[in-house]
Amino acid sequence: MEHVNSTARTSGATVRAAVWRGPRSPLSVEDVWLADPGSGEVGVRIAATAICGSDLAYVDGHWESSSPAVFGHEAAGVVDRLGPGVTDLAVGDRVVVTLIRSCGSCRRCIAGAPVGCSGRFAPDGFGPLSDARGSEIRQGLGVAAFAGAVTVHRSQVVPVVPEIGLDVAALLSCGALAGVGAVRNTARVAPGSFVVVLGAGGVGLNVVQGARLAGAAKVIAVDPDQRRLDASLRLGASAAVAVGDDVRDKVRSVTEGEMADYVFVATAAVSAIETGFELLARMGTLVLVGMPPSGARVSLDPVMVASAGQRILGSKMGSALPARDIPALVALYREGRLELDGLITARYALVEIEEALRSTRSGDSLRNVIITDESLIA
Ligand SMILES: [Zn+2]
Ligand SMILES: [Zn+2]
Repeated sequence: MEHVNSTARTSGATVRAAVWRGPRSPLSVEDVWLADPGSGEVGVRIAATAICGSDLAYVDGHWESSSPAVFGHEAAGVVDRLGPGVTDLAVGDRVVVTLIRSCGSCRRCIAGAPVGCSGRFAPDGFGPLSDARGSEIRQGLGVAAFAGAVTVHRSQVVPVVPEIGLDVAALLSCGALAGVGAVRNTARVAPGSFVVVLGAGGVGLNVVQGARLAGAAKVIAVDPDQRRLDASLRLGASAAVAVGDDVRDKVRSVTEGEMADYVFVATAAVSAIETGFELLARMGTLVLVGMPPSGARVSLDPVMVASAGQRILGSKMGSALPARDIPALVALYREGRLELDGLITARYALVEIEEALRSTRSGDSLRNVIITDESLIA
């Protein structure tokens, strides 16, 4: 099929996608044009895409984006097209699709930190999505998986074994990768540590699981929602504290006065960062996992931080190496040591995406998953 206006990307097909045209209009499920993979790219038929807090931050306008755009980045599916030069995948491979796009040759890629890649990926400046007139539709976070198919860079795709369902595997792409990775890769939590997790949503619950897997002596989850707190206890938290209770007193009593060696801030609430500092032990580490709204500022006492020998770490996508970490997470899942099925609150069709977003926005769900192609799940 030939396409009219796009300069570099001429072959492709139409797919259904949930198009965003600004924070005040509902997503519109319609046909868009998806270009075939170019050199080093892969086409994936999407089976399932979970809704992440980042999708909602864009949809609701807390983070800035040009419109129109298609979001959705926590996805899994089946390879259905291969671009020139991609020789290590086959059509039909079951894969997790991530937003971590890496060139493999910049300074950070060479240093083993693909999440910091500074490579350039669309030399013609044109992504794979456009409307019927050939005007570009932004590929949100480089994925755009609230759609029947995506065209992404080879580095964004990691094969998974058939023993994990693709609806469950979707959670590995962001929530589990970012949550467990924050513990294992970014903070490298030592066994016996006292850990506090502020925010027990889709990422925070995976921080709880990661802390348990790392052998933390105490894991204290803090969240306003009772359902999430109950989930945190099921996933290995030793204490669950409702926001509004005296969190500081509670952490002091659970850690027998020591306070936290690690505080993970897995919520977008700016106030949680300041709360996190109050919960830190001497030599403690504050790990920023959640992304507050654009322009947020916090105040801290640098003398306190320096004299207590504390550290502040930003955890981008769990400092993940997807090709190493996703298979490792699948192995933990198959051994029954990583819970994923229980993190899915509800499944929706693509046309029901507004309802799914509403449920995610209300904060009472763990992960809501859009099932784009039921036939690929079984
Ligand atoms: Zn995400
Ligand atoms: Zn790179």
